[in-house]
Amino acid sequence: MKFKYKYIDAHCHIEDKGFNKNRGEVVETAKNNNVEMITSGANFGGCIRALKFKKEYNIYLTLGFHPGNVNAEDKIIDKVYNLIKQHEKEILGVGEVGLDANVHNIGRQKEIFNKFINLAEELNKPIIIHGRGLERECYNLVNNRVISMFHCYSGDIELAKELIDNNHYISISTLICFSTHHQELVKHLDLENIVVETDSPYLSPIKGEKNQPVNVIKVVEKIYDIKKGDGTYSYDEIVNIIYHNTKKLFNI
Ligand SMILES: [Zn+2]
Repeated sequence: MKFKYKYIDAHCHIEDKGFNKNRGEVVETAKNNNVEMITSGANFGGCIRALKFKKEYNIYLTLGFHPGNVNAEDKIIDKVYNLIKQHEKEILGVGEVGLDANVHNIGRQKEIFNKFINLAEELNKPIIIHGRGLERECYNLVNNRVISMFHCYSGDIELAKELIDNNHYISISTLICFSTHHQELVKHLDLENIVVETDSPYLSPIKGEKNQPVNVIKVVEKIYDIKKGDGTYSYDEIVNIIYHNTKKLFNI
C-alpha cells in the first residue's frame, strides 16, 4: 500500500552545501518513498553542482540565478546563461529566477530576470519563478511569453486564480504545514495547475531539522486535510492530480 502513491518535489536544492554530509541518504529516503525530485541551481557554483548531482543520482534538474545574486558581475550572469544553453537537453526549465522585494536594486533584478525570461522563451522551456513580495510584477513580465511555475507561491488568492486561468502554475511549499496564509490559498483554489515542493534544505516543516524532499508528502497530506471537509477529492485523487500537473508542466 505504502508505495502506491507517487510524488514529485517540484523544487528543491539537492546541490545545496547544507546536504554535503548526508546528500546520498536524503536522496535515497526520497526515492524509497516514491518521491521524485527536481533540483534547482540558483547561482553559478550551485548550477555546476546541480548538474553533477543530476547525473549522479538520476534526478530532474532546472538551472537558474536567484535574485539574491543581484550584485553579481555581468560575466558571472553570462556564465550561468551559457551553462543553461549548453545543457539545454538536461534541464526541465529555467530557474529559479525572478524578483525579491527584500533585495535592493529592483532595476538590476529586472534586467537579470528579463535576460533569463528571453532565454526560457528561446529554449521553449517553463520558467521557475522566485517572486517573493513581487508576484504581480513577475507575472506581468512572463505572461504571454513563457509558462511559469511560481515556486513557494505566497501572493494573494486573486492573483493565484489569474495565474492559473492563464496556464501558469502555483507551487505550494512545506510552509503550508504551519502558515494559515498558504492554507487559506489552498482552501480557495481547486487543484488545477497546483504542484508541490519543499525548497529543501529550506522551509522545514520540522523545527530544528533541515527540510528534505520526502517532506513533500506532508504538503500533499496537508492539502488533503484542508480539502477533505468539502468531500471533492479523495487522497488518491489529490496525489494523482498533483503528480500529473507536475509531469504536464515539465513535459516529463
Ligand atoms: Zn529555491
